[in-house]
Amino acid sequence: MYICDTCMAYTDVPTDMATHMSRCRYKHELPGRVVYNSPYYQIRKVDGSKHQFYAQCLSLFAKLFLDSKSIFFSVQNFDFYLLTVSVANIRVLDKLATNYPKSAAAAATAASGDASSGTSSSKQTEAEYDLVTAVESESNLSEQRVIGFFSKERVSFDNFNLACINVFPPFQKRGLGRLLISYSYYLSRKAHVLGTPERPLSQHGLASYISYWSSVVADCVLKYTRDNMNTNGGGNQLQRISIQDISDMTYIMNEDIVLALQNMNALVKEEVKEEAGLTSRRKPPPAAGLAVRYTISLPRIHEWHARRQGKVPGPTLIEGYCLVRKRTKKQLKSVISKRKR
Ligand SMILES: [Zn+2]
Repeated sequence: MYICDTCMAYTDVPTDMATHMSRCRYKHELPGRVVYNSPYYQIRKVDGSKHQFYAQCLSLFAKLFLDSKSIFFSVQNFDFYLLTVSVANIRVLDKLATNYPKSAAAAATAASGDASSGTSSSKQTEAEYDLVTAVESESNLSEQRVIGFFSKERVSFDNFNLACINVFPPFQKRGLGRLLISYSYYLSRKAHVLGTPERPLSQHGLASYISYWSSVVADCVLKYTRDNMNTNGGGNQLQRISIQDISDMTYIMNEDIVLALQNMNALVKEEVKEEAGLTSRRKPPPAAGLAVRYTISLPRIHEWHARRQGKVPGPTLIEGYCLVRKRTKKQLKSVISKRKR
């Protein structure tokens, strides 16, 4: 089987593929539009109804690596978010995966005018990167190749913010799935709805999600306690944080937060004495007994966070690189008139 590395069209006739590849319609530009444009990685949004054949070929290609994937042909109701890198950068992907967070974070802080976190190591990384890319031709840097993607139902009544995710095998174990998951939650945040991935998840998918949820929940709780310490003038009195509070801040569903806390071993079960209820005319008072209560253990989150330090989770999604399409006056008018109706 021969598969085009640009549009995923397939054939078992080698000469047909050679002809196709020389004139593939997406050779110079992939379908859809760029919605995330960082120095090394791009995310493109492809509307499944406008680019049906492309979406079908992509889904079929992904099926080779997934057991649970079930949509191949009815792609019209889905958007596809493609993770792409330039042809030149595919060759140095290992380097990018380990160096990216530092240099990208430095670039982002430099852009925001904060020079304090720009370190010499990140400058060195950028210099190395320049060396690698300087010898590449313009076309190698502009030609993009898909290395993974996720699909998302355009209208989901179950708040699914992701239907299927796949990073192609040669590019796995670099934290790229996490970049895509972060982007799916970015979309949920923008739409002000809680998000969760469609079930069932593959074993690999669930592991990626639990790792993602755990780090986001840990960061959220630690930031919350830090901020709270500051406002209390350094006192040790902490305000309580509930799972609902975490969900409000992260757009992660309560059930998924519980999974993350269990993964960090940070959900502690306590048996507390329950007092006898007040007498009511209708119901008899409940008997005094033991009730089960769960609390979030801050020390255990700290422990988990400390163990994770130094391990590179992969490229971080930097919101400054997310592109939001500005609507034209005509489009705005039609949106307003639809709302009025
Ligand atoms: Zn092609």
